[in-house]
Parts: sequence; C-alpha cells; structure tokens
Amino acid sequence: MIWNGDFETLPRAGMEKLQTERLGKLVDNLYRRVPFYRKKMDEKGVKPHNIQSIKDIQKLPFTTKDEMREVYPYGLLAVDMHEIVEIHTSSGTTGKPVVDAYTAGDIEVWSEVMARTLSTGGTTKHDIVQNAYGYGLFTGGLGVHYGARKIGATVIPISGGNTKRQLAILKDFKTTVLACTPSYSLFLAEGAKEEKFDMSALGIKAGFFGAEPWSDTMRKEIQDKLHLLAIDIYGLTEIIGPGVASECEHQDGLHVFEDHFYPEIIDPQTGRVLPDGEKGELVITTLTKEGTPVLRYRTRDVTYLERSACPCGRTSVRMHRLLGRTDDMLIIRGVNVFPSQIEQVILAVDGVEPHYQLVVERRDQLDELEVQVEMDEKLFSDEIRNLETIERKIESDLYGALNIHTRVKLVEPKSIARSEGKAKRIIDKRKI
Ligand SMILES: [Zn+2]
Repeated sequence: MIWNGDFETLPRAGMEKLQTERLGKLVDNLYRRVPFYRKKMDEKGVKPHNIQSIKDIQKLPFTTKDEMREVYPYGLLAVDMHEIVEIHTSSGTTGKPVVDAYTAGDIEVWSEVMARTLSTGGTTKHDIVQNAYGYGLFTGGLGVHYGARKIGATVIPISGGNTKRQLAILKDFKTTVLACTPSYSLFLAEGAKEEKFDMSALGIKAGFFGAEPWSDTMRKEIQDKLHLLAIDIYGLTEIIGPGVASECEHQDGLHVFEDHFYPEIIDPQTGRVLPDGEKGELVITTLTKEGTPVLRYRTRDVTYLERSACPCGRTSVRMHRLLGRTDDMLIIRGVNVFPSQIEQVILAVDGVEPHYQLVVERRDQLDELEVQVEMDEKLFSDEIRNLETIERKIESDLYGALNIHTRVKLVEPKSIARSEGKAKRIIDKRKI
C-alpha cells in the first residue's frame, strides 16, 4: 500500500527537479543562518550559487557526528528557538549527544514519512499498533507514534522492555502491527514459548524492525516464529529518526524517501562518491528539514544503492539493507568482516538459535575470532548430540563465506545476554 503516490511514484526527472529546488533553498538558508555550515562551505570554497543541480551536491562539505557534537547543544539551529517544538538527541553513550530540534513543519514531515513507512506493510486506520520502541529522547518511540497517528491507526505506546506485559497486551489488545528492534521480537517469541502460547494465533500481520542491522536469515527466523511480514526500516536521530527509508512488501531493498532525504554512497577512506551498486558508506542530506538541517551527513552505515524498478510501483532509489557499520566492521587478519555476514551463515545451520556473540582476541600477534552461538533446547537435550561435528561444520561454512578461520563454540541455551534494545554482538579484547 502506497501512502503518498504523488511523491513515492514520482518519475525520475520530476524527482531530480524537486531535489534540485530543495537543495538550492537549503544551501542558501544554511549559508545565511548557520555559521557552522557557512564556515565549512567557505573552507571548501563553495558558495550557494555554485549549487545549480542536485548533482552539485558533491561540491558540498561532509558533516560528521563529531563535528555536530562540538557545537552541542544549539550550534546547528537554522531557525529561532521559539520555532522549535520538540527536541530529541542521539544516545550520547560515547560523548556529548547530537541534538535534533524539530519545528512544527519537521514533525509534520516526520509523521508523513513514518505514515509512508507503516503503510508499506499494509498498516491502515483499522490496525492496532503495539509500539515497543523506546519513548523519550530516543526517536524510535515517537517516530512510530506520529506515523501511526497520521494513518489513523490505534497506537499502544507501551515503549521498550517488560516482556511479560508486552506479551499480555499482544494477546489481550489484539495487536495487529508490532514495532520494535528485530532482536527484541525474537526475545518476545521466546517469552511466548515459555508461557506456552502460540504466536501464530495472535493475528499480527506486520512487524517494523529497525535500529540495528539484521540479516535475511534472521528475518526468516522472525517470520517463522512470529508469523508476520517482517519489514526492515531505517533512520537515525541525526537525520530525523526512523522514516528515512523502508522496505515494501517485496523485501528487496529499502525505498529511500528521497524527496526529503538525499542519499549518496562514498568510499569511507577517500570520500569519493561511488556509482550505484558499489558498497560504501551511506551519506544523507536533509532536503526539507527546518530546525536542524544536515548537509551530507556521514552515517557510518555500509550499504549500496539500486535504481531498478520495484514491482510495488514506487520509483524511489532503494538502499540495500544495512551490511554493517564502518565502525563495527571488524578487521580480522586484514579481512573486513561484518557481524551480519557471520549471522547469515550461522543461522542457516540447524540446531542453533539466533543469539550469538563475537569475541576477538589477539594471540601471538594474530587475531582470533571466536563465534559463540547458542544451541536450541532440542540439540542441548539430545543425548547423542555431536557438538563438535556441528562446530566444525559452521567453521567450514564461515571459511567458505568469509575466507577467514574462526573458532565456533556452541553454548547452552539462554547463556548469551539478551538486550531489550540493540543487541551487543562484538567483544573486542584486542589491545592494539
Ligand atoms: Zn517496492
């Protein structure tokens, strides 16, 4: 279901014209009103009149998360403070957070792109949306909330955590749409199993999962266990929150809402813009944001863009589901490895659960990667279980996929710590 046909199915020429107009306005405004951007543009020797088409975006400077933190809290504001109606921030776990300040117009755009997102999985005003993303400064909760309200659906603002209560509400309130992190959805399925009820009888038709990278194998696992259509959604606080891009029912790449967010892929080392189909770092420019617009933000997310026609009818560019982060990319003996690649391999093996952890150590100057995977209850209780054979098989599959040697260890069910938010997959013990 397409929420806004006018923009979501706009032919390429029309989209580029719109993007060119919007970029021109944005750059003019930032140059006049935000010293942070004026300085960056001056340093790069580019003035607003140099931006004549959307392709000229490559002349503009990048913006990094660290730079945005340096002007904390209000150095990115492009309007007067009294025009700001809401503020969110990034987590700030590794320093000062990035502040995202929204005008009433920004909240309207956020509601619109989230209505488009929830519509991809068929959400209508007749649906009951259980929103298990965290409410608060984190953008997940309110983003989904505004989108569901815009559609006219019923929102249950339960927020994250409290699994027993989530499960009771799923059953009692007849939830039809679930929104949470993908790892938490599996945690809910596990809880349901313990309480001995059948998730398939609940009638949840779609789930909107984001905020962490996940693989197609994990999707299969979620769809099998929760009996729903699992839609991958993408966004980030520095840009707007969720609502930057979403899969459609064909689950073949995420449609970017490019009338508002312009995507580019660059080589993270050189900053060179890469052609469609080539993997690199995703860079986003907010074309319509008023409160805290962002020029060419380096997301550190790794993906690639694709423009082939999608059977759903949307004409927008699609980004492949995230392959990883430039900063959680592990370099093991010189080979680039993303946790999602490992996940893809291990979850295809019978007898293991989608709960795993990667431990990296350096011994005698050599990196060693240990992959700890939980076995399922059945394998664990099997008397003639041949753990070693399975471990060796996974090691050989991993070697086939990644070309690195790993050590695989099957661990007891439920022995790896669960997360109610983003899963922590990597423990890097190397001292370099
Ligand atoms: Zn599509």
